[in-house]
Amino acid sequence: MSDDVFCRIISGELPCRKIYEDEHTLVFLDAADDVDGHTLVIPKKHVKNILDCDKETLAHVIETVQKVAKHYVDDCGWGGVDVMNANEPCAGQTVFHLHFHLVPRKADDGLPSFPKYTGTKLSKDELWQSLKMV
Ligand code: 5GP
Repeated sequence: MSDDVFCRIISGELPCRKIYEDEHTLVFLDAADDVDGHTLVIPKKHVKNILDCDKETLAHVIETVQKVAKHYVDDCGWGGVDVMNANEPCAGQTVFHLHFHLVPRKADDGLPSFPKYTGTKLSKDELWQSLKMV
């Protein structure tokens, strides 16, 4: 066990508003009062983020992301769900235990779905050449 805040929630040392739990994953409301229904899905196994996550753990987490998203839409009256995940500080990760953010959505709720980006610095071809894997 690491001593990050999510490991301390998993161990019961810190409280959470639990939404769902199974053998491999835990789901609870985010502490921030930033948007209605902000939810976190985490693995019980400590991994930092998707860059060091083994395939089995990632599969468990994504399965739970889908389960909770379907529950919010099928059973709780929401119209859709945004799913977000940050990896490493430069990408905005602040808690270093893998987590996916779920934000339940309704039509015309006025929320942004993605950050408002400001335009590219490099050409599409430069980016393609530096990023492609095939
Ligand atoms: P990140 O910035 O790493 O993508 O997201 C970390 C999230 O964890 C933030 O949205 C933050 O509000 C949430 N968070 C941090 N500490 C706690 C805590 O003790 N309890 C809960 N429920 N959420 C937390």
